[in-house]
Amino acid sequence: MPAMLDADDSRFRRDLVEKNMMRGKQVPEEDGTVTWRSSCLLCGQPSEVKGLDAKGITRWQAGAFVQEAFPGLSADDREILVSGTHGDCYDLAFPEEEEEDWDDTELP
Ligand SMILES: [Zn+2]
Repeated sequence: MPAMLDADDSRFRRDLVEKNMMRGKQVPEEDGTVTWRSSCLLCGQPSEVKGLDAKGITRWQAGAFVQEAFPGLSADDREILVSGTHGDCYDLAFPEEEEEDWDDTELP
């Protein structure tokens, strides 16, 4: 799996986003914001981002980059939108100094 930190959109990432859009679920809240619910690809637990702007979701799903649609979002929250993955799980699976292909690395 290529490194995908910092939400730089690439064609690969775009495919991933589209898959995750189908996995994830928008939940409209009473205050007019939207909660995005998905599940973490690494630990399998639910992941969610609260307080999203519905217009931002529309823009994102129409093809805007996640960092354009939601400029105020933290990197961890963007990761949940893009791949469903928790920031903590991501950091464990992809330590910054490790550039090896995770799938091919044998655990000790
Ligand atoms: Zn996780």
